[in-house]
Amino acid sequence: MIYADYNATAPMRPEAREAMLAALDLGAANPSSVHRAGRTARAVVERARAQIGGAIGSRAEDILFTSGGTESLALAIQGAVQALDGKATLIVSAIEHEAATKAAGFAGVPVETAYVLASGQVDLDDLKTRLSAWDKALKGTPVLVLMLANNETGILQPVAEAAAMVRGAGGLTVCDAVQGLGKVQVNAALLGADFVALSAHKIGGPQGVGALWHRAGAPLKALLHGGGQERGLRSGTENVAGIAGFGAAAEAAVRDLPKYAALAKHRDTMEARLKAEGGVTVIGEASPRLAGTSNFARPGFRAETQVMAMDLAGVCVSAGSACSSGKVKRSLVLMAMGADDSLAESAIRTSFGWGTKPEDFERVADAWLEAARRTVLKETA
Ligand code: PLP
Repeated sequence: MIYADYNATAPMRPEAREAMLAALDLGAANPSSVHRAGRTARAVVERARAQIGGAIGSRAEDILFTSGGTESLALAIQGAVQALDGKATLIVSAIEHEAATKAAGFAGVPVETAYVLASGQVDLDDLKTRLSAWDKALKGTPVLVLMLANNETGILQPVAEAAAMVRGAGGLTVCDAVQGLGKVQVNAALLGADFVALSAHKIGGPQGVGALWHRAGAPLKALLHGGGQERGLRSGTENVAGIAGFGAAAEAAVRDLPKYAALAKHRDTMEARLKAEGGVTVIGEASPRLAGTSNFARPGFRAETQVMAMDLAGVCVSAGSACSSGKVKRSLVLMAMGADDSLAESAIRTSFGWGTKPEDFERVADAWLEAARRTVLKETA
């Protein structure tokens, strides 16, 4: 099997597995317990917090553990709105993951859209115009929600520039860096955002663990109330083994950044072949994007059919937003970029990572071309 769906979930790194097993082998203990066993569990959690802090150039204490990227985004978006007493308007980019758009939709304040250009990057001129005319008395604090790297296309967003504009207008920025961590250098302070959401399973850690970095002093109210863990901002007993795995994965992913960057060469070769032999359009080809992501479309060859044909050939890829339970629909991300229906219906995402071998790219291209030759290429021949 060739696994080319890292942006959905990356295979677990050996470092993460080892750290998790070691944490499980410590035996039962609650990190909030004061006895020795509890203190040992606490040390595991704090070590991981320091590892994640190290991965994003931040202090450990500015990191809260959560159950994943979805919860981190909900906490940042809704927790900030609550801390602002609802006197806020959210500006959500048109290409955000549903975890962000839905959290915004349920935040109980108006939501505006930050448009993206055909390049797939947010329209900074439009954002600037909008912020310069911002009526704070009417709309409250502007809260921008902008991802670092798009999960479908891999296109990188100018978060630092956008966050600087928002800060200048007295606003806040929530950055979804779930797909950025371990793929590009992420420095929380340099990003200029007030909140940065992270998830373990996209970098070779376990599923169901995430983190939220928040700027010291950023307005934030807890959504989950209870035992007061995570400095009262996220109650609930910490997932000690999961957090240990996340910490180890973050450290390994950052160490391996140069290896990840080297995937671009193989990805480009694969894309060149698919264009020449299969007539595909590569989405975001001219934009800065993640080295291990390739999103391409072949009008007339439905994404769903491509994914199934490749699955039969033993290649795992996905269509549209793959995190959403097997549903295959027209890509809203591509639509937001102004792509026409025929592209948005026929785009698939291949994504590669730490365990990918150079020949995997070739095998993916072989499987795709073979499926295309049996169907769409035959029809057009
Ligand atoms: N944000 C992006 C960009 C994602 O790709 C995902 C993936 O599912 C999420 C948020 C949600 O993260 P999680 O699966 O950890 O809840």
